[in-house]
Amino acid sequence: MILFKKASDINAHLSELKRNDSSIGFVPTMGALHAGHISLINSCREKNNITVCSIFVNPTQFNDTKDFENYPSTLEEDINMLEKSGCDLLFLPDMSEIYPDGIKNTPAYDLGYLETVLEGKFRPGHFQGVCKVVHQLLQIIPCNELFIGQKDYQQCMVIKRLIESANIHSKIIICPTLREADGLAMSSRNMRLTEANRKAALQIFETLLYLKDNLSAGDLSSLLAKANAKLSSAGFKIDYVSIANADNLQLITEWDGQTKTVAVIAAFLGDVRLIDNMLLNSN
Ligand code: AMP
Repeated sequence: MILFKKASDINAHLSELKRNDSSIGFVPTMGALHAGHISLINSCREKNNITVCSIFVNPTQFNDTKDFENYPSTLEEDINMLEKSGCDLLFLPDMSEIYPDGIKNTPAYDLGYLETVLEGKFRPGHFQGVCKVVHQLLQIIPCNELFIGQKDYQQCMVIKRLIESANIHSKIIICPTLREADGLAMSSRNMRLTEANRKAALQIFETLLYLKDNLSAGDLSSLLAKANAKLSSAGFKIDYVSIANADNLQLITEWDGQTKTVAVIAAFLGDVRLIDNMLLNSN
């Protein structure tokens, strides 16, 4: 694996490979890698000649400075995992490579409804930061395919919108969520859970399954109230438990029995914020 720190160096290297008809796949991450990230690398390797991973903890997408300061960093282990996975190139930029003109004067993105609901509502500015960093990264790394995780369901929609509106020629591949043996979605933030909270964290997955098993046409308020109660009694401080249209994230309070739905949860255990989602009536 070749490690690049300079945007101009990796861009020149990849542009040359592209001229020779190599297909380039890209997996952007914030590091503290786990098997979920590596599953994206594996999918990328299956479909592309060259697999690029980036590790950059992007300050502009953290609405909470404490969350940014506490974000785990395990660079040495990350590099070992990427080497073993067969990743070809690692881009490890610092701030000045991603934001050469600083973060103040970066453009705003029109994300419409997506920025007003769920993660958009509870993490003001988060998706602007996601768009800034992904847009920059895609200019530096001219990939044919971009691999992202369904774990961040709303983020997938935001990135789709960015790619369409900025006329970027990369195809988005959305990869399934990898889970621990008990069902907890793998996340870099899981390593910050205490032992007791790690056990309680499983209730997010259990609650998603509960919503899936009990979804029926009509008013959803009592189902959602029971889901909220399950999480609260497990010690969560809930940002949201919602059921939404899986295609556009419009919240659903009364289900018609047909619309494709997704259940989405964001909740805190201590100061660790966890998110997860599950498609309820389709796969
Ligand atoms: P992050 O490092 O959290 O920014 O995540 C980098 C990429 O990995 C994003 O596209 C995530 O959606 C994806 N990802 C995170 N957790 C998982 C998981 N458990 N399974 C699959 N993909 C994941």
